[in-house]
Amino acid sequence: MRPSRPTGPLVALVAAAALAIGVGVAPASAHPPHPGHGGKVPVATGYGGAVATVDADATKVGLDVLRRGGNAVDAAVAAAATLGVTEPFSSGIGGGGFFVYYDAASGQVHTIDGRETAPAAMRSDAFVENGVPIPFADAVTSGLSVGVPGTPRTWATALEQWGSLDLRRALRGATDVARRGFVVDQTFVDQTTANLARFSAFRSSSDLFLRRGAPPAVGSVFRNRDLAETYDLLARKGVDALYTGRLAEEIVRTVQDPPVRRSSPLVVRPGLLQLGDLASYQSPLRPPTLVSYRGLDVYGMAPPSSGGSTVGEALNILEASDLGDTTQTLHHYLEASALAFADRNRYVGDPAFVDVPLEELLSDGFAAERACLIDPTTALPKPVAPGAPDGDYAACETTAVGTEGTDGQSTTHLTTADRWGNVVAYTLTIESLGGNGIVVPGRGFLLNNELTDFNFTDTQGGVDPNLPGPGKRPRSSMAPTIILSDGAPFLALGSPGGSTIITTVLQILVNRLELGMDLPAAVAAPRATQRNTVAVQAEPGFDRTALQALGHTFVDNPEIGAATGIEFLDDGSLLAVAEPVRRGGGSAAVVARGR
Ligand code: GLU
Repeated sequence: MRPSRPTGPLVALVAAAALAIGVGVAPASAHPPHPGHGGKVPVATGYGGAVATVDADATKVGLDVLRRGGNAVDAAVAAAATLGVTEPFSSGIGGGGFFVYYDAASGQVHTIDGRETAPAAMRSDAFVENGVPIPFADAVTSGLSVGVPGTPRTWATALEQWGSLDLRRALRGATDVARRGFVVDQTFVDQTTANLARFSAFRSSSDLFLRRGAPPAVGSVFRNRDLAETYDLLARKGVDALYTGRLAEEIVRTVQDPPVRRSSPLVVRPGLLQLGDLASYQSPLRPPTLVSYRGLDVYGMAPPSSGGSTVGEALNILEASDLGDTTQTLHHYLEASALAFADRNRYVGDPAFVDVPLEELLSDGFAAERACLIDPTTALPKPVAPGAPDGDYAACETTAVGTEGTDGQSTTHLTTADRWGNVVAYTLTIESLGGNGIVVPGRGFLLNNELTDFNFTDTQGGVDPNLPGPGKRPRSSMAPTIILSDGAPFLALGSPGGSTIITTVLQILVNRLELGMDLPAAVAAPRATQRNTVAVQAEPGFDRTALQALGHTFVDNPEIGAATGIEFLDDGSLLAVAEPVRRGGGSAAVVARGR
């Protein structure tokens, strides 16, 4: 069954009903499509291909590629490279990500694992000193947290496998933006301000991002000639120029001997990265995760991301439940999220190191056993314990109290589609906002701190699947998702937001598929995230009253996620959607408004 796009009156009806019973559903009319900050347009409908990113320049570069005959993969790489210029604190060639691709010609969904790897010298106690874990903030701004960047290899792999452009042409638009500059907006200033102390500690970072020790002014033009030259190098020599040779040596030097100013009070631990780690980096193709949800085929990212398995398990739990009215639907959304997070924390890690029971985690039998725990009248005590995805699902299991997980707050997601029906959902990151805070001197990009996604010490009673290891990929929450209906694309989406990525994707799907919202309203609606913690985090606009009556407790989170997506409408048009407000609003565009 393909849920059709709700009509205006239906949306209004659902919204009115939701308001009447006091739950957190935003009426579509509360978030009308409007130009975002900096002239961004968050919603576009039309034909011939579409691009949705957080940034107007990136969307424009991706759209230009489509207009000139490039495909969705070309556009995704071009837009991602542009985000490396205009959103340098969330993504870039110093980081990693996960690329999900629907190939219209074959009807297949493929994924690329561009996750960073730990150095070969990294042991399970790498983040422990004198028997105690080092402070998280210290690990963030360090060489120790830097994994081998996966993004350049991901771009090369995507273009080689499915692109029509070579890297040189795919990087052209982004290089142009880097060289000619872009106009600084408030979000860029806010994100620089959040990094002021860290950037000030490194000459390379302050030279690039600060102007006399302060963020650049809103409205000023920001150029990154160093990055333009780095992109030129990759265009000429291919991405091997980052994994071997002089640039690789510079990355290793920056990690092993971080260029911190002597006057800085920061303790900046050196890292373990060596040239061999870079030279041996691979971005493998992996089979996607797949669950069926109300007749739709939902494809996601397999481990080392927990995105596909956790969104998939939660959807299976929802499908096995009687969702009832809006309050019950949201109650089940929160409970299914908590249960799926308990299982994620216990079972999901890098499959090269951990035997992840993926098939069982995504089985209907396991979902039924987990769904059975949900009481329609009362929220479960949190955190809940993990279940047993062991193939034996006869009984309704009982639950005990488990342990809480952690979360982050950076990253970016983009979605593209082309005239041939190919689709890309691509989430990429440098982990924290501003990565590890260290620009590779003279190269124009920040390094990641992705290895802080490992657990520093055992959280699972001796069986933690996400401790550091040599060459290991830290578990991710990135959840680029593509949904097919009757074998044709229906919806593609994703979000940043650390572990809230999973619940953001899930909540948008619940809004869209269960609560009668169209995609712009589903993206705009106030969010709540339950990741197996005592309290649910919720945006201020999320109406809690009816859920509190069921025993859910809430704490504020000012902003959760920054999604983008594309829906394929019944009339053959594309609906491209970005955030209207969060993170300053995103940018959606279509190749043509009419056929
Ligand atoms: N490093 C995080 C992950 O892979 C994403 C970072 C974020 O969105 O804050 O799950």
